[in-house]
Amino acid sequence: MYNERSFIMAEEQVPRVQDDLYGHVNGAWQRTATIDPDRVSAGVSTDLDKLVEKELLADLKDALAKAPDKPKDNFQKAAVLFGKALDFDQRDREGMGPIQPRLSKIQSIKTLADFNQNLPYLIQKGYNLPFVPYVGTNMHDATRYQVMFSSPETILPDVTMYADPTQKQQLLPVWEKMARLLLAQSPLSPADQETYVQDALTFDSRIAAHHMNHEEAAVDDNFDNPVAWDIALTKFAGVAIGAGIQPLLPSMPKTVNILDLKYFNHFSDTFNADTFWEWQHWAYVNELTDHAQYLSRDLRKIGTMYQQALTGQQELTPPERFAYNVANHYFDEPIGVFYGKKYFGPQAKADVTHMVEDLIATYKQQIHANTWLSDSTKAMAVKKLDTMVIKMGYPEKARPLYDRISIDKETPLATTLDTIAEVSQQYRFARLNNPVDRSEWNMPAQLVNASYDPSANDITFPAAILQAPFYDVNASRAANLGGAGATIGHEISHAFDNNGAMYDEHGNKKNWWQPADFAAFKKYTAAMIAQFDGIPYAGGKINGKLVVSENIADNAGLNAALQILHAEDAPQSDFQEYFINYARTWRTKIRPEFERVILKTDVHAPALLRTNVPVPNFPEWYAAFGVKPSDRMFRPADKRVVIW
Ligand SMILES: [Zn+2]
Repeated sequence: MYNERSFIMAEEQVPRVQDDLYGHVNGAWQRTATIDPDRVSAGVSTDLDKLVEKELLADLKDALAKAPDKPKDNFQKAAVLFGKALDFDQRDREGMGPIQPRLSKIQSIKTLADFNQNLPYLIQKGYNLPFVPYVGTNMHDATRYQVMFSSPETILPDVTMYADPTQKQQLLPVWEKMARLLLAQSPLSPADQETYVQDALTFDSRIAAHHMNHEEAAVDDNFDNPVAWDIALTKFAGVAIGAGIQPLLPSMPKTVNILDLKYFNHFSDTFNADTFWEWQHWAYVNELTDHAQYLSRDLRKIGTMYQQALTGQQELTPPERFAYNVANHYFDEPIGVFYGKKYFGPQAKADVTHMVEDLIATYKQQIHANTWLSDSTKAMAVKKLDTMVIKMGYPEKARPLYDRISIDKETPLATTLDTIAEVSQQYRFARLNNPVDRSEWNMPAQLVNASYDPSANDITFPAAILQAPFYDVNASRAANLGGAGATIGHEISHAFDNNGAMYDEHGNKKNWWQPADFAAFKKYTAAMIAQFDGIPYAGGKINGKLVVSENIADNAGLNAALQILHAEDAPQSDFQEYFINYARTWRTKIRPEFERVILKTDVHAPALLRTNVPVPNFPEWYAAFGVKPSDRMFRPADKRVVIW
């Protein structure tokens, strides 16, 4: 019998599909699957990650064996970085040595005047500051870059967790313990060590007091505050921000975007002459926690304590995977180009590109057939689809940034990583006045994921996700539509989710909606929020507002791929296969500690709900499996929501 929340999880060993689609497909696996002690999740995505990792580990080792001491080729540079990250013996010999100069630098800054004088250096070298400068695509003119300022990260991953005594009391003591153990290996006296920990916590709570939470950050409007440069200056009371960023920029900006306005409206409360020492001690401790995992074996172990508490990961990441993760993080694009060329076949590329074109065409038909949009809004929506750029598999070449990075075998790992971060930042800041490079990819080919970028109106499908069960050249059309098809539809529809709908076909944040159409869209969005809001999960509740953009996309993706099956006159068995494979792609098990964190921070709902909540919105579901009002995954017609 239908009940708002009862279709979520069935108790049976293998529930009937009509009662619990996710459990029917994945329940037996879910009950017996274990998460590797050195991982935080198991399931389809993790298995694909493992496969990619196995392939690339062999390739990196091979390239490392052949690499010269100072490699020129970018994949070889990645391999040498991998080799360096794997050399734990060298790091045991170096101890704290590689970060000592940075710690001394922080200690040499003793006044706000020192701070201002050193600001260009501190920004350039990526020290922990009470603000984070960045250069990214201008939200209102997507052909240009813009300087942006955001707030530093807080210790607890979402600021609402500071108000939750359970999470606060479970997590902050672990962070404190980690900080104390790291400081114990620093040159500070025991009394100073304690002062530094307490000051770091106090300064963190000052940041947290005015920091956006993830629910707020899930709404683009909340981090879009363009202001004239002279207005921005007033937010940085006492800080010589102009002189600080000038050396990195080709010219001074006329406007900037203050991403976290709430934070910057209170900036002078957070950072001033009175709180200066708190900042200094916070920066010192953060320097240690940021770098520890790239130092000795012992420091890596201490430095990952807090991360392990957040995720529940029981064992340290094994050395080879740690080294792979380092190379993959700092050289993701060159590794991706290599991966795509080696592992992504032309047949898959042609076939999936065709599927994307089919889905875009389906969207267009649906927009034309839409009953609640006016013709002018429809015309704009179609324009967005017509101009959408498809990035399939892998880019032909990595951005020129990597040619500027040199990697040698001798320099310590932490120093090398700091230099890469510095060169990357220089690269981003130096192009402030250049036109935006739209050929850049925002995800590398070896990542098991996909994306839509509203500022470029493009969709990216990395090669790594275009594998079974998402996509398989030997699988049926229905299975591939339930996997890759629904994923592709999901990404396309981000162009029309509650955030994407605010950007035009060029990627400019601009309202192209007729007011009545937008009011109707908002009503549908509210219904989508309600469908998820408050569902009990992992000891907490789903925040419908946090996850709404992704749920709109899931629903739309499911619908668009279903329409293709209709257009092809697929038999009922194909619709069944479609839903079954959709559920299979969501097979996931996550450690409970991490589930509690992502409940507050992730704009995606948990996999179980991404399967069972959207599916009963579609008539095809009822027809495919004969779902009746007495079944748990039945939803009365008046409660079903289909936006796109
Ligand atoms: Zn998405």
